[in-house]
Amino acid sequence: GLLLPVLLIFAWLLGLHILRKNGRSSLADDIKSGIENQEFFLVYQPVVSSEDGKAKGVEALVRWQHPQMGLVRPDLFIPIAEESQLIVPLTNYIFERALADFRQLQLTSEFRIGFNVAPEHFIQSDIEAKFRYLRDAFAEIGVQPLIEITERQLLTADMCERITALRELGILVAIDDFGTGQTTLSLLQTFTLDYLKIDKCFIDTIGRDAVTSHVLDTIIELCHKMNYVAVAEGVETQEQADYLISRDVHFLQGYLYAKPMKLNELELWLKEHN
Ligand code: C2E
Ligand code: MG
Ligand code: MG
Ligand code: MG
Repeated sequence: GLLLPVLLIFAWLLGLHILRKNGRSSLADDIKSGIENQEFFLVYQPVVSSEDGKAKGVEALVRWQHPQMGLVRPDLFIPIAEESQLIVPLTNYIFERALADFRQLQLTSEFRIGFNVAPEHFIQSDIEAKFRYLRDAFAEIGVQPLIEITERQLLTADMCERITALRELGILVAIDDFGTGQTTLSLLQTFTLDYLKIDKCFIDTIGRDAVTSHVLDTIIELCHKMNYVAVAEGVETQEQADYLISRDVHFLQGYLYAKPMKLNELELWLKEHN
């Protein structure tokens, strides 16, 4: 009497497993061919100085123009790229794409480009050589690369070591989405970074929620005390901007200033605002 239900459940689980695996591996296959066919492109979001309102750099954000699905957001394909190890060739493609893009721009002052880099990238044995190459290639066009590593992914001892080595090469390193991950504060005692990007969820509390904006204030103070450059993510209102500027947050990024833009739109935006 028990055999049939057990068999049925087993068959159902097996079906689920196969379905999931197929769904996953086909999207991974699409990512692979997408890299070959140059279906990925970058949009750039200005990062604005709170001192003079000018963009001192941008964050590069990847987009995928999938041949059947249309425009696919990174939240969907980045995790699959990470699982399937395709994140490394994808990120390398992104670096080259940004180099090619910015070779076309006439930058008038020092400029930084932030790249989101997954931890899989730092396991590569030739990482230092790669980043030395990137540093030099970007320096030729007046750009300083900045590596953004999300707090969720960061910070095994091994990662910290590799990140320190990159900083010694002159690569800037930011901790991204700060406050949303599991990093203990004690880790910040052993480890130095350049930028700290305060997650949008804290910016959203401005003018709304007294308790959490105490948390925001504390993160800002931490940045000042540790000499981190503080960047606020997801600034959408003037009220938020005013608050952050009054507390000397160095850089602001968000729809209030600009959405992520294709290169030609960015070029126009920079002409108008910088
Ligand atoms: P992130 O690095 O925290 O990037 C910021 C995200 O917030 C971007 O979403 C950006 O478009 C969005 N954003 C910026 N300002 C505002 C605002 O004022 N309001 C709101 N609601 N959103 C704002 P996006 O482009 O969809 O990227 C999502 C995440 O995907 C990124 O979060 C990053 O973790 C990942 N990602 C994007 N591009 C890459 C990439 O090239 N490589 C890797 N490994 N991850 C990437
Ligand atoms: Mg980022
Ligand atoms: Mg972020
Ligand atoms: Mg974020």
